[in-house]
Amino acid sequence: MSAPLLTLESVSKVFRSGVFSRTQVPAVREVSLELSRGETLGIVGESGSGKSTLARLALRLVAPSSGSITFDGVAIHALDDRALRPLRRRMQIVFQDPYASLNPHHDVRTIVAEPLVVHGLAKSARAAEPQVRELLAQVGLGEDTLERFPSAFSGGQRQRIAIARALALEPELLVLDEPTSALDVSIQAQVVALLEELQRRRGLAYFFISHDLALVEHMAQRIAVMYLGRIVEVGPREAIVLRPRHPYTRALLGAVPTIDPEKRRLRVLLPGEIPSATRAPSGCAFHPRCERARPGVCDVREPELEGSPHAVRCFFPLDPPTP
Ligand code: ADP
Ligand code: MG
Repeated sequence: MSAPLLTLESVSKVFRSGVFSRTQVPAVREVSLELSRGETLGIVGESGSGKSTLARLALRLVAPSSGSITFDGVAIHALDDRALRPLRRRMQIVFQDPYASLNPHHDVRTIVAEPLVVHGLAKSARAAEPQVRELLAQVGLGEDTLERFPSAFSGGQRQRIAIARALALEPELLVLDEPTSALDVSIQAQVVALLEELQRRRGLAYFFISHDLALVEHMAQRIAVMYLGRIVEVGPREAIVLRPRHPYTRALLGAVPTIDPEKRRLRVLLPGEIPSATRAPSGCAFHPRCERARPGVCDVREPELEGSPHAVRCFFPLDPPTP
């Protein structure tokens, strides 16, 4: 087995917010994960569970409060911007909102060429035009798009532009933070198909984040389920989807997305809402919403994440499959 491309070991991130930064927000708590070359690791959880923070940690767009992050054998958790620079080329991100992530004042040529220019691989956007044309072709956009501005495009087309830009430096790792959540369902499927094709062609590793377990199931070979900053269950796709052991994973599997596009959120078939990270419940953070929780145990102590390759963080997990 070759060494993993990306390794997170017990990575935590505590933000400070509020007046005088007095409020501590433990957004990600002791997360350990590995991602191999060419593999897709899915991260799923409700809004507020720490997925985007984990994405930004993986790319070292933020520094962890503790823990270690290794990219292709290089410890990156403590590197400064200068030392990170050559590694940045090799890992890129596509954000959820294609309306916010593209500069409205730049044409498509400038947007897609920007990473090449910034990293000194092209003198100017114009000089990078052959590469830009090739990248646009790879994401299914024609040459007629070169001189147009983001406002001329639909959400799906904008996301294609964002993907073309992310591919410009030929990264090995692409972090996809809810890349299709802002898109109509029919457009979603097209962007997903494009991502699959690009992965096949380029051998990319994907760190694929979504609140939609069905989508993660479609994309990922392995799935990690997050709740309030913690991984509560992780394992091979089939194990997570067919034999979930954490009550939260089972609830996610029964969840239905709301139709209302204004707040396209996950309606999890659970009592209550996910609490704020600043007010995580005692013991197992999931216990107030859990039908299996036992007083004196789940509200007092926090379970460990146990098992391999299928691991679960629960004192009273659902039955293991009969052998
Ligand atoms: P998700 O992507 O799963 O919705 P996030 O990683 O965006 O979750 O957020 C996890 C928690 O961390 C939330 O409680 C959020 O309010 C908090 N958080 C995220 N970024 C910051 C920040 N820069 N400062 C303070 N709190 C933050
Ligand atoms: Mg997010």
